[in-house]
Amino acid sequence: MERTLSLIKPDAVGRQQIGAVINVLEQGGLRLVGAKLLRLSRAQAEGFYAVHRERPFFGALCTFMCSGPIVALVLEGPNAIQRNRELMGPTDPAKAPAGTLRQLFGTSIERNAVHGSDGPDTARTEIAYFFSASELNGLA
Ligand code: GDP
Repeated sequence: MERTLSLIKPDAVGRQQIGAVINVLEQGGLRLVGAKLLRLSRAQAEGFYAVHRERPFFGALCTFMCSGPIVALVLEGPNAIQRNRELMGPTDPAKAPAGTLRQLFGTSIERNAVHGSDGPDTARTEIAYFFSASELNGLA
């Protein structure tokens, strides 16, 4: 069993695609153990994407990520990190296979509908960025 963080980004939330995204994740074999809707401050967006701060798209990415509400999800399942990445598809929606979240709901390399942790260490850090242990499994 493994856990990973998923974010439904402001583009998909703005188009009322929260339910459709969660449906793909659940039908894909992942279980929701944490969920919240929130709007990131600039500082929170910059902190979340700190690893990208030297990249040319960092400023635009942070502006986008705090442009509207997002949904943060903790997903659980066998190989949840890898499974979520498969269900998302690659960063660029134009290159994403049919039926993946980014093909279905993404519109550009920046506005690509969802985020997913890329490994066990980032999953742990990213889950802790949004959730305390007592907020998982409906315990809060
Ligand atoms: P991910 O793991 O597939 O989300 O991709 P990365 O970690 O490389 O990038 C993080 C996020 O930055 C992506 O999901 C996009 O929203 C955005 N991004 C990545 N590459 C580019 C780019 O070349 N241009 C712009 N504007 N945004 C990008």
